Amino acid sequence: MDSKVILRGQNLRREFSSGDTTVTAVKNCTVEIAAHEFVAIVGKSGSGKSTLVNLLSGLDVPTSGTVTLLGKDLSTLSEKELAGLRARHIGFVLQKDNLVPSLTIEENVAAPLVMGGTRLSVALRRARATLDDVGLGHRADRWPSEVSDGEAQRAAVARACAGSPAVVFADEPTGALDEENGKRVREIFRRLTAEHGAAGVIITHDMDLADEADIIITISNGETTGRVDRRT
Ligand code: ADP
Ligand code: MG
Repeated sequence: MDSKVILRGQNLRREFSSGDTTVTAVKNCTVEIAAHEFVAIVGKSGSGKSTLVNLLSGLDVPTSGTVTLLGKDLSTLSEKELAGLRARHIGFVLQKDNLVPSLTIEENVAAPLVMGGTRLSVALRRARATLDDVGLGHRADRWPSEVSDGEAQRAAVARACAGSPAVVFADEPTGALDEENGKRVREIFRRLTAEHGAAGVIITHDMDLADEADIIITISNGETTGRVDRRT
């Protein structure tokens, strides 16, 4: 195994059954992601992108196949071990990310760190530094209801990155944003993955966002159909 590979999905398959119908959302998917890589997963709506990312991030369990994060086969872990591994090493940004309305922007970014066992004062300091990184230091003490959609999405990116995870996943992070805010989120993601050393895995329809990535993986009908490394 290539020692730089931090996340690997091997022969992944995910079926959803209800009654007597079975939908195969993902099949024959093998994906490897190394430290520092910025990967875009691109495919039409319904092609299996979210299902694949849910499997890779340990949110969902494959029908068959294995996911290995930092050398650990996720299927061998207890629920508690898996939750701990995810909390320490995985960040996740959702399309319409939900900040907790009763916490300030800074507290929202600090919350996952505190839940992971970091002391409050340390977590708040790190949250502030990450907010500075995404250009939101001046919004740290605002409530989520007081910031724009673009700012809320940048705060969600900061929240996913504040713990310096090994991998940051983002499912359509610019999907709900206008062009200007989409551009800012792209730049932030690019910079955070480059400077913080995390791998970034982004699901997107947005070709401008995919164009920033080092590696583009295409998916169609649940199967990966191509992988282009644009650095070579
Ligand atoms: P994408 O993110 O590319 O739009 P998804 O991974 O959400 O695609 O979905 C892939 C396919 O799997 C679709 O046909 C979808 O309807 C189906 N699917 C996804 N999640 C479920 C589920 N929980 N139950 C049943 N079918 C699902
Ligand atoms: Mg999706």
